[in-house]
Amino acid sequence: MPPGEFEIIERFFRAPAEALRRERGDVLLGIGDDAALLQVPPGVQLVAALDTLVEGRHFPVGTSPDSLGHRALAVNLSDLAAMGAQPAWFLLSLTMPEVREDFLEGLARGMLRLAQEHRIALVGGDTTAGPLSVSVQVLGLVQSGTALQRNTARPGDLLFVSGTPGDAAAGLALEMGAAPGSETTAVQQQWLRQRFLYPVPRLALGAALRGLASACIDVSDGLAADAGKLAQASGCGVRIDGERLPVSAALQAQLGGAALCAALTGGDDYELCFTVAPARVDEVAARLANVKCQVACIGVLEEAAGVRVFDRGVPVGFDLRGYDHFSAAG
Ligand code: ADP
Ligand code: MG
Repeated sequence: MPPGEFEIIERFFRAPAEALRRERGDVLLGIGDDAALLQVPPGVQLVAALDTLVEGRHFPVGTSPDSLGHRALAVNLSDLAAMGAQPAWFLLSLTMPEVREDFLEGLARGMLRLAQEHRIALVGGDTTAGPLSVSVQVLGLVQSGTALQRNTARPGDLLFVSGTPGDAAAGLALEMGAAPGSETTAVQQQWLRQRFLYPVPRLALGAALRGLASACIDVSDGLAADAGKLAQASGCGVRIDGERLPVSAALQAQLGGAALCAALTGGDDYELCFTVAPARVDEVAARLANVKCQVACIGVLEEAAGVRVFDRGVPVGFDLRGYDHFSAAG
């Protein structure tokens, strides 16, 4: 007989996460009561975000449960990173068509491994039957008044991005059965797939940018689209210089001349895109000395609304819209 709801929660989610809850000391009531009771320190603001992954929509049918568990938490941690917040607690809403122990084991393993790494404690959730989807709500902490926002950039601020955007989209295409490029090595293919299956939330980068970046957003829908959202929220526009985009060797091998387009429009990267006032650009390198990810300056905020992309000075004209769940194409 498959385990019942109580046993599922106890065995796969409550027990394995118990040590971390105890270690944190700020979970007054965790899993087991009607709601969690959490201690927010004085002088600190609570940062909340929630993201859902739906099978067939946000991950291909047949994705490994370990990756699914990792991604469901990682995409939420990325939202905390974009706010400069420190992860504290999370809740999990799990909907699945049937109880399969190997699935639950894998999902919990992938999710709790990442939770342990960032010391974020699972404090509650919900478990229901239905089409497979995983929702995570994260709660983070930030010293009052220091959170990063997307609506605070100004014209003239320089635009930066972390990592090498576009890789995850190419990795997803490979997962979905796209042919590897003739130049793409097996190691590169595997690396691109991993970039989709195991995104790295840029929490250390987000924290280091507090007090320096003028605005920040995480890249989930595509770099050009998300840079455009930051610019629009800030009441300006943005210019991106394509030749300054950091393109990975793997993406270059896989897509050749189309790599730039993938770097601009591919989704699921979970890198950070941020702005810095020109007078403070010299501080970026020192501030990021201990953060293990590269950043590149790729453009500038401008007064005129809209997103303008150039490649060595020539305007780039392809469709720059990011992934939109309710658009005809999405
Ligand atoms: P209620 O009916 O009071 O909402 P539930 O039976 O749904 O309670 O859940 C019992 C306890 O288990 C609650 O504390 C809830 O937060 C927690 N919980 C339920 N599902 C999960 C899950 N997938 N992961 C972690 N905690 C869960
Ligand atoms: Mg409930």
